Amino acid sequence: MSTEQGPRPHRVLVLNSGSSSVKYQLLDMADARRLAVGLVERIGEETSRLVHTPLTEGAGGEREVTGRVADHREALEAVAAELAKDGLGLDSPELAAIGHRVVHGGRQFTRPTVIDDAVLAEIERLVPVAPLHNPANLMGIRTARRMRPDLPQVAVFDTTFHTTMPEYAARYPIERETADAHRVRRYGFHGTSHGYVARKAAELLDRPLAELNLITLHLGNGASAAAVRGGICVDTSMGLTPLEGLMMGTRSGDVDPAVVFHLRRVAGMETDETDALLNQRSGLLGICGDNDMREITRRMDEGDEDARLAFDMYVHRLKKYIGAYAAVLGRVDAVVFTAGVGENAAAVRQAAVEGLEGFGMAVDRELNAVRSGAPRLISPGSSRVAVAVVPTDEELEIAEQTYALVGPDTRPAPESADSPATPPG
Ligand code: ADP
Repeated sequence: MSTEQGPRPHRVLVLNSGSSSVKYQLLDMADARRLAVGLVERIGEETSRLVHTPLTEGAGGEREVTGRVADHREALEAVAAELAKDGLGLDSPELAAIGHRVVHGGRQFTRPTVIDDAVLAEIERLVPVAPLHNPANLMGIRTARRMRPDLPQVAVFDTTFHTTMPEYAARYPIERETADAHRVRRYGFHGTSHGYVARKAAELLDRPLAELNLITLHLGNGASAAAVRGGICVDTSMGLTPLEGLMMGTRSGDVDPAVVFHLRRVAGMETDETDALLNQRSGLLGICGDNDMREITRRMDEGDEDARLAFDMYVHRLKKYIGAYAAVLGRVDAVVFTAGVGENAAAVRQAAVEGLEGFGMAVDRELNAVRSGAPRLISPGSSRVAVAVVPTDEELEIAEQTYALVGPDTRPAPESADSPATPPG
């Protein structure tokens, strides 16, 4: 146990474990500074790759290691070895905690939670509703606990921010007994990002979050919208899984569920095939063969009609959610764009807000064209509704939530250091 009187621990390692990758960042919470960032990809394949970038002074540039990394345990060991080379090893007494991104927290995890065996079992119980994500998250957690059993580890869930949705927004209108027996309801995802950019947007507008009605649009490879009233999520576009809602890079977003039965009947497509079709071969990719918005706008500028169609569909569906959430909120103070597409694709922002003057929404062409990594307004001064670009930072948010739970100022006395923050039922 780290009960010695050493330096006060102030570093947090953030781990985002996917099925074949682990992304990580080590942060110093004294000043929210990144000390190292990196990624292990193609875990389990012949040639895996680790890219590690130390960000401490004098540590040198990016390092790349290739070779076989058989599983998540080896991946974390490789990460630990790279960190150790920069004097940032996992055995350092300065490490306060590890924060894990966990995709599905169901209804019960309404806050970030210190991980113990009961919490692990609960995340495991959610595997049937998140078969692609939770098993990988669990592997990351188990490995990290084995490496540092004495260290507090915290699960930060993508679903937590959405657990405030009212029942009428969280339920699907299907037979209650069946839905409840199989936990079929709308959970929503990207919650860490929606919560973070909502807070940052309030800072940008210099108004209390509690007074603001916001529509937050997280447009990355996956994409989702949220209606946020006074900092509380009241609706979001993703549902039981991250497939529902907006059109995405490779996911369809909303379709008539009868598409699935139809393809079964007329094309004999099995569940797994339809799953792969809708999750991996649809969205922008399915319409024009590209899922990167940079490539799509480039092709569009050259007159490519497939790219144009994909773009128009993407924007049309985005606009429908803006309209829907304007109606849900009644009054909108700001529309907030974030993530890869939201932060960078000026053409998407322009087109999504175009024609919404009746809603009090407009984009100033010049402001929208400015490229910047800072939160900024892109609406004209006269606009009733602010339109903003707010870069997301999910890792910082996970680190902050982790540190708030286990940091030295809040950590329980050593005798009771293992008492978990059990989620309320
Ligand atoms: P992820 O969901 O994987 O975290 P990101 O939020 O990083 O994704 O978003 C990735 C997507 O952002 C890319 O697929 C690409 O479509 C888009 N993107 C990134 N940079 C730009 C850019 N400069 N212009 C337009 N789109 C961009």
